[in-house]
Amino acid sequence: MRNEAVQVYPALSMYIGGQFIGADSRDGQTVINPANGMPLGTLPHATIGDLDCALAAAAAAFESWRWSSPTGRAAILRKVAGMVRERAETLALNITRDQGKPLAEACIEVSGAADHLEWHAEECRRIYGRVIPARSASVRQTVIRQPIGVCAAFSPWNFPLNQGLRKICAALGAGCTLILKPAEEAPSCMVAVAEMFEEAGLPPGVLNIVWGVPSEISDYLIRSPIVRKVSFTGSVAVGKHLAALAGAHMKRVTMELGGHSPVIVCDDADIERAATLLAGYKGLNAGQVCMSPSRFFVQEGVIDAFSELFVAAYASRTLGDGLDEGTIMGPLAHERRVEAMIAIVEDALDRGARVMTGGHRPEGPGSFFPPTVLTGVADEATVMREEPFGPVVPVTSFSTIDEVLGRANSVPYGLASYAFTRSLERAHTISTRLEAGMVTINHFGLALPETPLGGVKDSGLGSEGGVETFDAYLHTKFISEQTV
Ligand code: NAD
Repeated sequence: MRNEAVQVYPALSMYIGGQFIGADSRDGQTVINPANGMPLGTLPHATIGDLDCALAAAAAAFESWRWSSPTGRAAILRKVAGMVRERAETLALNITRDQGKPLAEACIEVSGAADHLEWHAEECRRIYGRVIPARSASVRQTVIRQPIGVCAAFSPWNFPLNQGLRKICAALGAGCTLILKPAEEAPSCMVAVAEMFEEAGLPPGVLNIVWGVPSEISDYLIRSPIVRKVSFTGSVAVGKHLAALAGAHMKRVTMELGGHSPVIVCDDADIERAATLLAGYKGLNAGQVCMSPSRFFVQEGVIDAFSELFVAAYASRTLGDGLDEGTIMGPLAHERRVEAMIAIVEDALDRGARVMTGGHRPEGPGSFFPPTVLTGVADEATVMREEPFGPVVPVTSFSTIDEVLGRANSVPYGLASYAFTRSLERAHTISTRLEAGMVTINHFGLALPETPLGGVKDSGLGSEGGVETFDAYLHTKFISEQTV
């Protein structure tokens, strides 16, 4: 039996200059439970006045936060990590309510978020500079790294807690202040995050959270001379737009954008293991993961055996409300994703593909789309060219490693990539020649706090996580001193 506090969806607010701000007379939007289409709450939209307050608060707070000790910053991040673990049940329940993923996956997201906080708390004490040997004994040359200033960040709905916290940890750990606009579709966890930072003693203005019409907020914040850095996670199209705007105002960017991850299953792989692992991994968050394997290349000779095993494992994922016991795959986060799935399946069928399982929206309420596998998919089909960001899997065959690498690298994306093979030589060839920010062979080993996450080509700029995590929030200052 769940306790009473976790039965209720929380009141939603902004957090500006240390104040929680509700709707009052502001515009707002209704937050919907994607499992049943029912309203959960009302989210206030920031006015221009609210954004100006957030900018002023972040600028004022930067003047002291920038000089705060790394151990002090670490203590706050660690305190919040502890609270995230204590409040895990409530956080996870509300993520399932507004985002849709099954409760077990929401629990993993919450525990991962605490890991990120703890790791950044450690790593921010290691923002080192260096000494460069000088040409004269009377000169000392040093390089120091200093926080870049006020940052504006935009995080998405697929991992509403984790993606937002990654940006908070990196900015605050580096000594920057932040205005974050998380995703309006799944806001509960970021309201809770603001409450936890407030309780942990974060000075007012260091973290500000606003909501609204995404394009209006990003446009206003990025143009402001107060903002020195922009971080965005979301689609390539929006990322390019925001990066161009930031470039016009000479601002640093981190862009974690879409991918269209190839998975290469070679004929020497453990086919059963590959099929089982891929069915589980592809099903996470109903495929709404930027790193989700989304183009399946299977070598001739094993494609029939692989497809049979994969379809059986993937199709058995029970669809339902993420709070119901027995649900393995929840709804898509909103109706736009269901419409996108219908369109890409129709396009693939028009180009000669066959549906092996799924393919149709089920009857009844909620934004559901079933695990769907397509075979015989032409490389020109939309599902092979554009990120599906959902549970649709195109399976296609290949003959040689050279051929599959050419096809895998033929799209403008380059985020994650996967391969299954028992050959060390093939693993080496594939991992060095795939155009991707991340490669993982024979397992799924991505997105840990201590490992860098980022893409190449249209998939983005910069890394989140790993020792690289603070780079984009710091500028490099060279100091040369001569004794006189
Ligand atoms: P969308 O482009 O409307 O929204 C995606 C995210 O970007 C949302 O969180 C939204 O609030 C934000 N956004 C949109 N326009 C913005 C703007 N002008 N300024 C600031 N933020 C903005 O698409 P959608 O239908 O919600 O999501 C589908 C697409 O989004 C997918 O194809 C996928 O590429 C991308 N996406 C990527 C990730 C990721 O982890 N890289 C996460 C979520 C969505």
